[in-house]
Amino acid sequence: MSDYQIHHHHHDVVVVGAGGAGLRATLGMAEQGLKTACVTKVFPTRSHTVAAQGGAAAALGNMGPDNWQWHMYDTVKGSDWLGDIDTIEYVTRHAPEAIVELEHYGVPFSRTEDGKIYQRPFGGMTSEFGKGPPVARTCAAADRTGHAMLHTLYGQALKQKAEFFIEYFAIDLLMDEDGACRGILAWKLDDGTMHAFHAKMTVLATGGYGRVYFSATSAHTCTGDGGGMVARAGLPLQDLEFVQFHPTGIYGAGVLITEGVRGEGGYLTNSEGERFMERYAPTYKDLASRDVVSRCMTIEIREGRGVGPNKDHIHLNLSHLPPEVIHERLPGIAESARIFAGVDVTKEPIPVIPTAHYNMGGIPTNYHGEVINPTKDDPDRVVPGLMAVGEAACASLHGANRLGSNSLTDLVVLGRAAALRAGEVVEKGAVPEAPQSEIDKALARFDKLRHADGGTPTAALRLEMQKTMQNHAAVFRDEETLQEGCRKISDLWGGLDDLRVSDRSLVWNSDLMETLELTNLMANAIVTVHSAEARKESRGAHAREDYPERDDVNWRKHTVGWVDESGRVTLDYRPVHTEPLTPPEKGGIDPKVIAPQKRVY
Ligand SMILES: Cc1cc2nc3c(=O)[nH]c(=O)nc-3n(C[C@H](O)[C@H](O)[C@H](O)COP(=O)(O)OP(=O)(O)OC[C@H]3O[C@@H](n4cnc5c(N)ncnc54)[C@H](O)[C@@H]3O)c2cc1C
Repeated sequence: MSDYQIHHHHHDVVVVGAGGAGLRATLGMAEQGLKTACVTKVFPTRSHTVAAQGGAAAALGNMGPDNWQWHMYDTVKGSDWLGDIDTIEYVTRHAPEAIVELEHYGVPFSRTEDGKIYQRPFGGMTSEFGKGPPVARTCAAADRTGHAMLHTLYGQALKQKAEFFIEYFAIDLLMDEDGACRGILAWKLDDGTMHAFHAKMTVLATGGYGRVYFSATSAHTCTGDGGGMVARAGLPLQDLEFVQFHPTGIYGAGVLITEGVRGEGGYLTNSEGERFMERYAPTYKDLASRDVVSRCMTIEIREGRGVGPNKDHIHLNLSHLPPEVIHERLPGIAESARIFAGVDVTKEPIPVIPTAHYNMGGIPTNYHGEVINPTKDDPDRVVPGLMAVGEAACASLHGANRLGSNSLTDLVVLGRAAALRAGEVVEKGAVPEAPQSEIDKALARFDKLRHADGGTPTAALRLEMQKTMQNHAAVFRDEETLQEGCRKISDLWGGLDDLRVSDRSLVWNSDLMETLELTNLMANAIVTVHSAEARKESRGAHAREDYPERDDVNWRKHTVGWVDESGRVTLDYRPVHTEPLTPPEKGGIDPKVIAPQKRVY
């Protein structure tokens, strides 16, 4: 392997990923005076965050009464009581200042008449602890909020002199003998050189793994690379059984139609033209939370009330909205519907279907972004030198189900929190060298895949995996389909040994890059099906037909799953944090208000 040229870089912090989370962390780290590198496989403003449409939730109260305790209650309820209460308090409390900070950085939010940040209603966002009407809490820049955020954050990070390494693919973490992370090895895609980033702190901000599913709203780059790296370092992944299916992906194309459409007054109908959500969720109707709406749509289709020749999808109507509202607030939607469904939204409904959208699970962290590797004695044990933020992480703000518009908030609040923590814990002085043995190990894995000479093309194995996940771990689940899913994914894991990579070059080798990505997807997929099979209850997005009830006595706990090189999965559990950060006498929420209840909308 002597033909690999290795370049060495030394930084206080290396952030992997330049989506909303990675950029907010990078900017914050640089502001803390830390020498910061940001390594990203795509150009920063092409990260999946660019596609976020609807907005970011924060109780600013610009459209009427609101406060962070209501937002906190909604998020706890949305999480189906699996979210960590300390994280939920931290995020909902700091969301308003994080949004105002974004505004000051230059994000061009839409405005109200009197010049305040415009906010729209979103599913599950309510007032008076779920007893009042829906509240307009989601801060939006038309239907291009993520796009606006990314461009602004990238500019600000450059201004703070963060160093960007663009179109570098991170291969593996470099761990030391004491279990601390010392950096990463990355492959520069445009010239084939190898780069060891030695760092005191490594931050994984690699996004979700939506692409384990056949039909997903996420970009093709959402391959769970951070999760794969963590799994290979012998660390666990948390709560992967909780996968959000967005109610309104465009039928056939998978492209997202934001929940903001229903927030602005759009509604769903079945083949009888019935607004069926009124039957299932009398109070919040089409603005019930996503898992609920996706299940209702699936039931309508199963019971023969789907639309279209195969009765296999649902209609989303917005033609009753005034054209100026569509033009001003939802211009991108009108365009997507025209391009991907051939529909003029001012005249016809959009054909939609629940589509894999968001991973609630990920790399376990606390609300400072520090990665957790639990033991029986210490379920909150921190891995030195390693953080994770954004969709790659599981902090756990969203628990078993994320509320729409809480992810962008998660990115900026916890991206910022990670930077503040790093400012405290990263020691001054020289950067220690990562062990050479770890660089050699990562290179050996890379080299083996580069020369893979088996019988299965990467794309073929990936398709099998995606179909298996779609059929065995989707909106509704039961023992039989999950067990079969576990068996099939294990077989496909074996297929990794029979891969064939046809391009051996090191420059712009997309075949090899997709193969590295597949090894990461597979680690996420296998832990997802095993965690889902093991969880014998229904909670949030995990709907078991054989165990329809939530079981707080036995299952209000986080799954943690390890996978070894041979594909053997080991599961364990760690407690949910149930205590708020602030006691009620100091202005915190009344614990009785957030005690577990039945979740109805
Ligand atoms: C279509 C769509 C619409 C959405 N709308 C909303 C919304 O309105 N509101 C909301 O709150 N949420 C929304 N979400 C969810 C939210 O946008 C995402 O959860 C969030 O943007 C993820 O951000 P991230 O920074 O964690 O990751 P991403 O934005 O996915 O960025 C990942 C980064 O990691 C880098 N990376 C990955 N692997 C590697 C590697 N091996 N080496 C180097 N770099 C790597 C990539 O280059 C990229 O820069 C939406 C999601 C989708 C798919």
